[in-house]
Amino acid sequence: DNPILRKPDWIRVKAPNSPVYHETQKLMREHRLVTVCEEAACPNIGECWSQRHATMMIMGEICTRACSFCNVRTGQPLALDADEPNRVADAVAKLGLRHVVITSVDRDDLADGGARHFARVIAALRLASPNTTIEILTPDFLRKRGALEIVVEARPDVFNHNLETVPRLYPTIRPGARYYQSMRLLDTVKQLDASIFTKSGLMVGLGEQRLEILQVMDDFRIADVDFLTLGQYLQPSVKHAAVDRFVTPDEFADYAAMARAKGFLQVSATPLTRSSYHADEDFAALRAA
Ligand code: SF4
Ligand code: SF4
Repeated sequence: DNPILRKPDWIRVKAPNSPVYHETQKLMREHRLVTVCEEAACPNIGECWSQRHATMMIMGEICTRACSFCNVRTGQPLALDADEPNRVADAVAKLGLRHVVITSVDRDDLADGGARHFARVIAALRLASPNTTIEILTPDFLRKRGALEIVVEARPDVFNHNLETVPRLYPTIRPGARYYQSMRLLDTVKQLDASIFTKSGLMVGLGEQRLEILQVMDDFRIADVDFLTLGQYLQPSVKHAAVDRFVTPDEFADYAAMARAKGFLQVSATPLTRSSYHADEDFAALRAA
């Protein structure tokens, strides 16, 4: 087990207690929806849910992978719930979101990796909330031939898939995944439909070197990735990978400047940045530009 390092002052999180926070929570419970905000024990939940920004996690709460940074349970998932797309769409309509982020567990057990379910969720969202932009944060569909095409044909506005860490750390941090496969997935999305924005993110503080992060940024740009998120890794429990170090706000500012110079359309790099953090503001700003 890994002892948990004390968090520095710049990782400050407000306790979740606003009325809107509780309304959001109630809505998620009533619709029997799982959120990554809760499953990942996200430090921003107080802030996000107070603005109704909940990121729903579809296809259950049990994952077929066991990434060493992730708080989601590993095991044999349950069968897909055919009514889930409707419940997601209904909840998003009630939340009144202008931009929604939908993610999922990894479903290596399904022949299509859950691609059709993602497509059904997107279709249900379009019907219920035609003005809401849709961002999906998907698994890597490793060894699921044809899955990516199904999801791209459903035409999300933003296709997000996180690389999470530098290639050297994959064997320990993302043991079921392949760096190149994940990078190629982003590249392929762009080749299939250039009108879809692509997005990816990394966690820092896992033992990576600065130059390794800059190399991944270059790989992203070669794959035409549009948006980048970079945030501090926080250890969910003693059973998870240990924090190697807390990257300082100045270092984050340096990463952000480097990323902008490399040509990303949008960059979010702060200690509390998460894949879905402020995704709505960022996307609205881009569309207005
Ligand atoms: Fe949820 Fe994302 Fe906000 Fe975290 S940053 S609380 S995962 S919406
Ligand atoms: Fe967590 Fe995603 Fe890895 Fe599953 S695939 S363990 S949900 S990070």
